[in-house]
Formats: sequence, C-alpha cells, structure tokens
Amino acid sequence: MIFKKRSEPLELVLYRLLNARMDLSENDKKHFWTINKGYEGEVRSDIWLLNLTDDWFVLHDLLLEHNQSTFQIDTLIIAYEKIHLLDVKNFEGDYVVKDDKWYNPAGVLQKNPLHQLERCETLLEKLLHELGYHFTIASYLIFKNPEFHLYLPSIQPAIIFPTQLNRFLKRLNSGPVKLNKKHFQLAEQLEGLHKIESPYPRLPPYSFEKLKKGITCRDCRNFLTDGTLKCKKCGCIEEPEAAILRSVNEFSLLFPDIKITTDRIHEWCSIIKSKKTIRRILAKNLELIRHSRSSYYILKE
Ligand SMILES: [Zn+2]
Repeated sequence: MIFKKRSEPLELVLYRLLNARMDLSENDKKHFWTINKGYEGEVRSDIWLLNLTDDWFVLHDLLLEHNQSTFQIDTLIIAYEKIHLLDVKNFEGDYVVKDDKWYNPAGVLQKNPLHQLERCETLLEKLLHELGYHFTIASYLIFKNPEFHLYLPSIQPAIIFPTQLNRFLKRLNSGPVKLNKKHFQLAEQLEGLHKIESPYPRLPPYSFEKLKKGITCRDCRNFLTDGTLKCKKCGCIEEPEAAILRSVNEFSLLFPDIKITTDRIHEWCSIIKSKKTIRRILAKNLELIRHSRSSYYILKE
C-alpha cells in the first residue's frame, strides 16, 4: 500500500498562485514550467507501484537528514525483512558510461546516479541504526522510459531497465510476508522525519501591494469579475464562503508573516463588497486572536 504519497511541492503551489497574480519574468516562467513538468512526470512514474500488494509500505519523496547531511529518497519500500531504496529516472536517449563517468546523449558529463544512490543508502543505513532498526537495504536505479538506452561496460545489478521492470515487480510481489507493528512504526517515523525545505527564498520578489487582488476561479484560475462568483471563462460557480476561504488560504501561503484581518482579506478578495460578509466568514471558520489594539485571525489546525 502507498503509505506516503508524493505531494505537490509547495514551491509549485506558490508559483501557480504568483503566476495568476503577477507577471513572471521569462526565466521564472521557465522555472515554473520545469517544476510543473517534473512533478507531473514523478506522479506518472509512481503509478507502476500501485499494483503492489498490501504487504509493502511504499513511501514516496522523503527528504531526510543524518548528521546534518540531507538526502532525498525518491521511493522507499518497506518489506518484511528488507528495505528497497529506489531511484526512478525518466532519462531519454542514449547515455554512455565510461570510466565510471556518465554522459548524456549530448555528450555532457552528468552526476553519477549510482554514486548518489550509494550515498543515499549509506545515510539511510546510519539513520535506521540510530532509530534502532536493522534492516538490509537493497538499492535500485530504475529507468522507466522505453526510449532510454545505456552503454555500460559491465553489468550493474542495481540498474533496472524498462524491459526488466515487469520482472522486477513480479519478484517484489512474490512471497510477501505480512508486515507487523514494527514496520508500521518505522513507516510512521520516517514520514515524521520528512523535512520540508522552505521554498520562499527561491521565489521571485513579490509584495501584498503589488499582487493583483481578487478571487480567482477554482478551476481555471481566471479572475472572477463580479460578486456572483460565476467564472466568465469556464462557467464554474462557487459558494462565497468556499471561495473566500480558498482565497484566505492562498493569502496565508503567499504571506505567512502577514496577519489575517478582515480589512486585509476584504482588500485581497476585492470583489466581495461587504466587509461584514468577510468578517462573518472569518469569524465562523478561523480562530480569532484578540489583541487590545488589533485582533487578527489564524487558520485552525
Ligand atoms: Zn473558470
């Protein structure tokens, strides 16, 4: 079973919000496109593991740390006696390995993915020991794209090619043993240790004053033009409460350090004329923090 899904990176969510409310530079647009494509590709490439039986815990996309070294795990599978560490690559074209060096189809030297995998395995092994677990770790570099070929001077058992994928899955699925509390506890611990890197320093500069105000359509991101909250582009209609709360959520993601007040959300939503409506919806759904000078709201956990 999938224990931890790959979730949409916060950086991508924020870029999408900014893209709707400001003019991104060409470079930022390109970056937005790249991280969007990257995420879509990763989600697509996770599908092949959905057929694993419940005797496996699959955790996607973990960012862990041991002794101040962080390491990213693409996919981790907890089995009864073993942990499978998978790095799934979507490389395309003819790659060449010469003297332990990897070259892409254009002949450009690449980071050696086997070295990265080894580093990951070493750090994971140390982390597991620290947590008191003694599992064997089996690491694999998996190539999923059928348009990929690798010229390798020798056989590398850690590498799984597209033509070997089915057999690899069959091997995983054969002879499973029911997992127990210990495995569940490990999966929970690893999920809890997952770090989220702050994307804020990497975003283009923006401010509350300069971003376009208003409520965007839930479905197509077009700005809604009047209080009926009906999208002129796709026809979608949303209840005012849901639309306002969605906008509050967007506001708090974009401005985690700015306090949520009725005035600010009234300005942020802009097409909701009644401040009273905003106050009522905030009071109903958020928690009010009273201050003698200025009270504000926080999102409920
Ligand atoms: Zn729409």
